[in-house]
Amino acid sequence: MVKMITKNINLTACVRTEPLRIRTLDALSQTIKSYRCDGQKIGFVPTMGALHQGHLNLVKHAKSLCDKVVVSIFVNPMQFAPHEDLGRYPRQEDKDVAALAEIGCDLVYLPSPDIIYPQGFVSLVHVGGPSQGLESDARPQFFDGVTTVVMKLFNQVSPDLCVFGEKDYQQLMTIKTMVRDFNMALSIIGHPTTRADDGLALSSRNAYLSQVERAIAPNLYRVLQQIAELPSKGIEIDEAIETAKAQLLASGFGSIDYLVARDAEHLGEIDANTKERRLLVAAWLGKTRLIDNIGF
Ligand code: AMP
Repeated sequence: MVKMITKNINLTACVRTEPLRIRTLDALSQTIKSYRCDGQKIGFVPTMGALHQGHLNLVKHAKSLCDKVVVSIFVNPMQFAPHEDLGRYPRQEDKDVAALAEIGCDLVYLPSPDIIYPQGFVSLVHVGGPSQGLESDARPQFFDGVTTVVMKLFNQVSPDLCVFGEKDYQQLMTIKTMVRDFNMALSIIGHPTTRADDGLALSSRNAYLSQVERAIAPNLYRVLQQIAELPSKGIEIDEAIETAKAQLLASGFGSIDYLVARDAEHLGEIDANTKERRLLVAAWLGKTRLIDNIGF
């Protein structure tokens, strides 16, 4: 007698649909229009590629809130100063698209610089408030570059909502301010920072760290956690920040651009109206500049 063996194959686990790769504005607007005709809610996650789990978690979150998710990959020249790492910023399109396929991203928008900044482009979006100081002190061109490209991408993709990481907290608050001030018709959702097991915030720039630097890097988050716990023990925050700076330098960090406690909303000084506070840090480890932040 022949014995029939049936195997229970989970077909959904085998089928991976590649997201559409779109490089032109015409193709993008046609596809977005077709989503809209079907009444679908569109989520958007702008990135510069070299995707890691932090980016993918934003995409998953957008997917949980929307019918279609668009991810842009564009290394934006306008937010880099001439001496910064535009040329060596990691680029890995096929790997990124494969990772996005795994989590159900629908469309990857891959504009070339001339699609974003065609000949004759002369405009700049400048947002005040939370964009002032901190990152802007070290990188004066940075936020104008970010808000200009993000405004442009929002207009091209016209999403219902957009997910940004708290990893770049000042950027998140600057974009929220832009959307509020210009009455832009979309929601901005902040998503918590994804970290390695040792606490280091995932970042495409972590790839620049040597093995020794990578072992030192988690101290950045460690000192933030230490400070965040201290006020409840009655220790002055300024004193705790000075101690933490000394600890960072002693652990191998080269210099600290800032380590500050700020109002979590407008990123100005903490005052009597402050509801939530945020610690923000930027520090150099060898030739790599790391940033991190924590609510407290
Ligand atoms: P980037 O490609 O570095 O411009 O980042 C694209 C988006 O991913 C931004 O909203 C970042 O804040 C977010 N992002 C980057 N790293 C992380 C992380 N470790 N956790 C959460 N979001 C992140």
